[in-house]
Amino acid sequence: MGPPSSSGFYVSRAVALLLAGLAATLLLALAALAALYGRCARVPPSELPHRAGPDAAPSPPGTPEEPLPPGRTRPTREPAVTATTGHGRPPGPWDQLRLPPWLVPLHYELELWPRLRPHESWAPTLTFTGRVNITVRCTAATRRLLLHSLFLDCESAEVRGPLASDAGDSTVGRVPVDDVWFAFDMQYMVLELGGPLQPGGRYELQLSFSGLVYQDLREGLFFSVYTDQGERRALLASQMEPTFARSVFPCFDEPALKATFNVTIIHDPSYVALSNMPKLGQSLRRDTNGSEWTVTTFSTTPHMPTYLVALAVCDYAYVDRSERGKEIRIWARKDAIENGNADFALNITGPIFSFLEDLFNISYPLPKTDIIALPTFDNSAMENWGLLIFDESLLLIQPNDQVTDKKAVISFILSHEIGHQWFGNLVTMNWWNDVWLKEGFASYFEFGVINYFNPKFPRNEIFFSNILRNVLSEDHVLVSRAVSLKAENFTETSEINELFDLFTYNKGASLARMLSSFLNENLFINALKSYLKTFSYSNAEQDDLWRHFQMVIDDQNKILLPATVKSIMDSWTHQSGFPVVTLNVSTGTIKQEPFYLGKVKNETLLTHNDTWIVPILWIKNGITQSLVWLDKSSKIFPEMQVSASDHDWVILNLNMTGYYRVNYDQLGWKKLNQQLEKDPKAIPVIHRLQVIDDAFSLSKNNYIEIETALDLTKYLAEEDEIIVWYAVLVNLVTKDLVFDANSYDMYPLLKKYLLKRLASIWNVYSAIIRENSVALQDDYLALVALEKLFETACWLGLEDCLQLSRELFKNWTNQPENEIPSPIKSVILCYGIALGSEEEWDFLLNMYANKTKEEERIQLAYAMSCSRDPRILNRYMEYAITASPFAFNETNVIEVVAAAEVGRYIAKDFLVNNWQAVSESLYLFNHSKASGGYGTQSLVTLMNIIGRTISTDLQITELQQFFGNMLEEHQRLTVHAKLQTIKNKNLENKRRSARMTAWLRRNA
Ligand SMILES: [Zn+2]
Repeated sequence: MGPPSSSGFYVSRAVALLLAGLAATLLLALAALAALYGRCARVPPSELPHRAGPDAAPSPPGTPEEPLPPGRTRPTREPAVTATTGHGRPPGPWDQLRLPPWLVPLHYELELWPRLRPHESWAPTLTFTGRVNITVRCTAATRRLLLHSLFLDCESAEVRGPLASDAGDSTVGRVPVDDVWFAFDMQYMVLELGGPLQPGGRYELQLSFSGLVYQDLREGLFFSVYTDQGERRALLASQMEPTFARSVFPCFDEPALKATFNVTIIHDPSYVALSNMPKLGQSLRRDTNGSEWTVTTFSTTPHMPTYLVALAVCDYAYVDRSERGKEIRIWARKDAIENGNADFALNITGPIFSFLEDLFNISYPLPKTDIIALPTFDNSAMENWGLLIFDESLLLIQPNDQVTDKKAVISFILSHEIGHQWFGNLVTMNWWNDVWLKEGFASYFEFGVINYFNPKFPRNEIFFSNILRNVLSEDHVLVSRAVSLKAENFTETSEINELFDLFTYNKGASLARMLSSFLNENLFINALKSYLKTFSYSNAEQDDLWRHFQMVIDDQNKILLPATVKSIMDSWTHQSGFPVVTLNVSTGTIKQEPFYLGKVKNETLLTHNDTWIVPILWIKNGITQSLVWLDKSSKIFPEMQVSASDHDWVILNLNMTGYYRVNYDQLGWKKLNQQLEKDPKAIPVIHRLQVIDDAFSLSKNNYIEIETALDLTKYLAEEDEIIVWYAVLVNLVTKDLVFDANSYDMYPLLKKYLLKRLASIWNVYSAIIRENSVALQDDYLALVALEKLFETACWLGLEDCLQLSRELFKNWTNQPENEIPSPIKSVILCYGIALGSEEEWDFLLNMYANKTKEEERIQLAYAMSCSRDPRILNRYMEYAITASPFAFNETNVIEVVAAAEVGRYIAKDFLVNNWQAVSESLYLFNHSKASGGYGTQSLVTLMNIIGRTISTDLQITELQQFFGNMLEEHQRLTVHAKLQTIKNKNLENKRRSARMTAWLRRNA
């Protein structure tokens, strides 16, 4: 699957800011959903009121008949099989997360018939029916058969066999099926048989079933309604990973249970149907009403897991080309194809396939590749073998994407998903606990591909900004999880879904990169080739990978390791967090300790005794030195000594390929500081970045003094690399600082200090924006960093930044074709509103009303909160809770206003005065009344935003009184604890601010 969008560059930063606030609420809503699933335990799907969609509210337990959301209907069909519930069943294999090993699936004949017709007014749900014949081999005598099944109704179930070894199976017997029931907890369908299946025998399970297809719910089968060629259309697609195949057909839904699939799709004759394999044939079928449907069959797939089965039914057009004799088609809305929006993706797809084929020396085994761009796929992408599914925003280029990182993003994601054709599709992890084996390597190879096609791309800096920075700031020994987990520790299906996070993707990719850095690229690729070849069409676990690395290492004598690859890498994949490596340059001593969040001084944190086996590539005076290993808690390396009198400097962790932070003794930092002030260019860009980012992170967590980090910024007037500036600004001008109204004493000092240094980088980029913003499209790092630079410059009141904002905003309002360069659009809109009047605000509101794209609407909604006029902000919130023509659906306006500079005071008063209306509008927005309504959860989020700056108990009491009567008892307790945490954090920030202010006073 595509990386989680929280990892950074798939969502614009402004949107991310907004979403961050909303994420907490969403999590709570999801938790409520999870609770529903728990409560519905052991109720067969036909007894469920309806399947809970993302916006369908969970019903409180015991509610006899909850009304359905508008437009939703219950399935009325009676299952032909008497399915009983699991109530009162004794404990059994159905209580286990993993399938019992009695049956091995060999082949699926799968027919799916979703009732999607064009030119209908589509209800929020469709029905589908299906049949599946699964050939299985029995490995142990059993009278009981478990398959995965979720939200399916079973219409009939038969078991035939044992099958003869030759093809003439027509006269085989039947094994009677006495009962079919559902074990809802672990998502099983259980068939109780009248006689035992015999070990060694092959049987065919014949099941017919039905289920529901929900709109835009990216789980199993779903459909989307969109506009193309001026009319409303609908399409249907699938997402099986990780555990949704079971909601489309009963199956053995585990990644190691690979089988072949013959897929048949029944669809409206005007639609085209796609699946993993090429179309084999077509015929006609009439339904009971006599109307015609097309039956499309597809060739047999290779051996593959259920999570890669894919289908799409649509009225799309495509562009195609062939690469090494195999057809590649990119499917999209007809408008998009006609406008050439898919051409960029088409042109790079073939070469990426060829590059990876050559790199791994294994041909792509399928005869074709279809890639389909869905209007709604949650900003994500999925690597289904032969039918890759993308959100169209990650695949298509729009005309106004000129000054964006779109091409880079498309290249990254396409490379990732194509990389999966080997890592994941050809060789699959044994189980989800090792999902990083595919996600980490697919993410790592994104960079190999990009580097191959753009050798000048600043690979290390981009890896830092896209992958490393996010995960290093989230990974902590005591609170994070390890990359590779023990399969036996999983107890719930939901835990599988939670694995698709930063640790799987970003840490996984970082560890792959570290491995390649201490071997060499050749050995690294050779080991992977050997691994991929050995486990093709099969499954592997982490140890299998390490064994193949060990084999290539043992086969040569150039690279010597201090331990086996397994011991080295296990220390990284089985432990959470990472080490801080500290070099004392006077003695040459290096020690390692786990990185703790907010390390407490003079207090031993010995909860984590383990060490890592740390590869240390390093440079001295700009010259790369030979690799050393820190394989215990400390070690002396005399070659790393530097004396106070000489000009030497040392930096550990060459190119930041190691997954750790580096600390130095005072002299070590001083040497670096001196070098930066004397000749910063002598230190490579990636290391200027590293020194800044490590120093701020270490100071924030009490490893070094804040002054040490601040000293490193003195040279910045000489810094012309925007990505280094970015590292400085995100660390120095944090959200907390910006929102802290008490920073009034620091602000003028910080302003003076930074503006003095900012001039040269500002002049470069403001000139490009004014004169030739198109030039930015080749500067990926600028596209990443510009927003923060502009945001800070305007926040500091740099007159030219404010002037530029006025200019760009005015040009745009005069003529919306005068697009504001996309990387800085959020900032310009925000300052256009902040500096403007009601007229500008109303203009944006009208734009908002006419926009349909969610991302654009969120950007405008955010900008409108930047007004400094209390009347306007009040009116804004008023619109949000009343039935205005502007329907603020995407976002909770009050949260946005509360998060804005001026707005939070106004938002608080507004809430007090309008609580009833606010809570009702939130309720309507979410169709939800579960556990007091979504409104109170949203209130908790609001409280976090409004409480952002509290630092005294009095303020806590005040806020609690304010929120008190709006919350329920358990929420009040949570809120109190949360407020205490915020207060303590703020007190810590205050102490830090005071020291920063004192430092600035000396240096500004
Ligand atoms: Zn992936």
